[in-house]
Amino acid sequence: MVDDDASILGVVSEVLEDDGYVVSTAATGEEAIEILKSNTFSLVMSDIRLPGINGVKVLEYVKQQSPRTNVIMITSHGSLDTSIDAIKHGAYDYLLKPFEDLSLISSAAKRAVDAYRLEVERSQLIRSLKLSNEELARVNNVLHGLAVRDGLTELYNHRYINEILDKHIDKTVMEGADLSLIFIDVDNFKVFNDAHGHQTGDVLLRELSALMRENVRSKDIVARWGGEEFAIVCPTTDEETATRLAESLRAAIAKHVFAQDIVTSNASVTISAGVASFSKNKSKSAMLEAADSALYVAKDNGRNQVRTAL
Ligand code: GH3
Ligand code: MG
Ligand code: MG
Repeated sequence: MVDDDASILGVVSEVLEDDGYVVSTAATGEEAIEILKSNTFSLVMSDIRLPGINGVKVLEYVKQQSPRTNVIMITSHGSLDTSIDAIKHGAYDYLLKPFEDLSLISSAAKRAVDAYRLEVERSQLIRSLKLSNEELARVNNVLHGLAVRDGLTELYNHRYINEILDKHIDKTVMEGADLSLIFIDVDNFKVFNDAHGHQTGDVLLRELSALMRENVRSKDIVARWGGEEFAIVCPTTDEETATRLAESLRAAIAKHVFAQDIVTSNASVTISAGVASFSKNKSKSAMLEAADSALYVAKDNGRNQVRTAL
């Protein structure tokens, strides 16, 4: 409360203190600014006419220091225009003196303090909403990661690879580039399962998956198609390049010493692969079929080999 008239200062502070507020008083604008430097208030009430720094200057200082603090100008009829002007410059309200009814001071102060509290609450809410939005986005990311992955191998799953294949084909068509697909099937996996058990088979599938990931380029997308079958989408890659890639992957797997090989001293885990390109097959289904047929040819011809679609 700022007023150079000690009796007004006394009356207003008493009303406010009776209402339960903690009140600081200042007799000049200079004194008020000193107090404002080290304190934040929900409400500043100031006489508009003060010697030296006047009420409008106090208002400007408050708004610049602490924009949320509400300011009520106290004015006589003579300076009513200045008060209305002060409202335009951010004052919350004004009170006319001499006070006809002290309850007007109470109600004006209450409105201003309530508005301040609401504003503080609102910004706290916005801050915590932002936080929970970030949390939500993080959880969504994790969930999406889970939805597109195969639980056993952590490779992409069938559903995801189908989606990504559509997207890449659209891109391939638009850019006039090529795209290739490699189908992979583990050779004689049934025999392996029968000999070592299903669980050891699972371990082998995981090890194979890691090998596939390690032996492709960063742009290639490796997925578990189902069971012991895998698919690799090779964007912007022609059939010849994809065939070379499949061949080097096949060779890496054939010479890899699996954990199980050490136990059985039998390096027999191999894969067969079929390769097809989009440019030769013109549609997704034709390409899938061509890669699958090529894989069958590889199997028919003795396994542990790569075949390209005819
Ligand atoms: P081929 O060389 O002709 O592919 O012979 P194969 O024995 O691999 O082929 P087949 O289709 O006869 O058998 C596939 C086997 O893969 C049978 C099935 O039990 C096994 N299999 C499929 N999914 C899983 C799995 O998630 N874990 C394990 N351990 N085995 C699986
Ligand atoms: Mg199979
Ligand atoms: Mg198989």
